[in-house]
Amino acid sequence: MQKTDLILLKYGEIALKGLNRPKFEQKLIDNINSTLAPLGKFSVKKAQSTIYVEALDENIDMTETIERLKKVFGIVNICPAARCVKGMDSIKETAAKCVLGMDYDGKSFKVETKREDKRFPLKSPEISREVGGAVLRAVSKAGGNIRVDVHDPDILVQVEIRDDAYIVADVIRGAGGMPVGSGGRAALLLSGGIDSPVAGWMIAKRGVKLDAVYFHSPPYTSERAKDKVVDLAKILSPYTRGMRLYVVPFTDIQLDIIDNCPKNFLTIIMRRIMMRIAEKIAVSNGDLGLVTGESIGQVASQTMEALYCTNSVVNMPVYRPCIGMDKEEITSISKKIGAYETSIQPYEDCCTIFVPKHPKTKPRLNDIIEAEKCLTDIEGMIQKAIDESEIINIK
Ligand code: ATP
Ligand code: MG
Repeated sequence: MQKTDLILLKYGEIALKGLNRPKFEQKLIDNINSTLAPLGKFSVKKAQSTIYVEALDENIDMTETIERLKKVFGIVNICPAARCVKGMDSIKETAAKCVLGMDYDGKSFKVETKREDKRFPLKSPEISREVGGAVLRAVSKAGGNIRVDVHDPDILVQVEIRDDAYIVADVIRGAGGMPVGSGGRAALLLSGGIDSPVAGWMIAKRGVKLDAVYFHSPPYTSERAKDKVVDLAKILSPYTRGMRLYVVPFTDIQLDIIDNCPKNFLTIIMRRIMMRIAEKIAVSNGDLGLVTGESIGQVASQTMEALYCTNSVVNMPVYRPCIGMDKEEITSISKKIGAYETSIQPYEDCCTIFVPKHPKTKPRLNDIIEAEKCLTDIEGMIQKAIDESEIINIK
């Protein structure tokens, strides 16, 4: 592959914003800067709906740079570019080298030119034609096969004539979405399973900054179960620009439910109390919603009736981005974001330990509210759990 001198980043939806657009662009630039800062000094600048990222230090690892950029929401395409002298000979040579460095054989290509520097002697179509010719000759000299297709090319070679000339031949898909921090905050109920990390990722993708809340029930759930949730938060954090993880001690509340409520209501009552605690934590952080990994019908506590009971205990909107997805679809996102291998580690969570043998799949809200009256000082227990939460800052 041709050496990467510069990376061009294209953004999608932000470009459609009206008057607010500069705010979104600035947020994206800030997020890019903070993502790349640990790798060294960069220049990150915007011009005509493109962000130009250039390494200023020697020896910056451009592969790692690209890996990090792939996790920045708001970026649709990542285009590594080679820089060359602004003369036709060097442009043709560099473009040919770029294509030769790719998997080009038997494919089609097209050259497109943007001539920002209007003093450059050739016009864009002429530059494209000449560069195209040079690519054809270089490939044929290398014994390969490539043809021009101006309508639907496999490879798009972009030539940009600016301060220098830049050649882009490869386009890497970015994460899409909106820059995190441009869309308010929400609190994610993060368990150790497959679904909730995916739910958090999907909401963060829309530009929402996340706090995370995990309910921990020692000694019924081990330190390793907690570590697993911390690991999942770390996997999410390059996407979410870090996150504050609240580890809420939940054992006393669970034992109180077990002692005082009918067994088959256990899960629903537990879920309702989780929601109440999460809502209080959310309010204290200025979060405007809760996020869960629920999906209709996946388990007894996720039937429409059960969701109705769980939902009615809070006032905040509850976002459930996995709600209409099959496990297979959720799993495929989980794999894509690199969470799956951690999510399937077999550490128990507090729900699996206390699950009743015969959970009510169609609970009635009045029955649940009645059953909850048997809990001893639930308000006090909720406040105590919040006060005793451990807060872990995930960077
Ligand atoms: P997941 O795969 O996300 O664990 P699940 O299919 O196991 O989900 P449940 O255990 O019913 O489903 O939990 C539903 C949702 O409730 C989870 O997606 C998560 O948002 C939240 N949740 C469940 N247990 C916990 C916990 N211990 N801490 C924080 N949130 C939890
Ligand atoms: Mg779970």
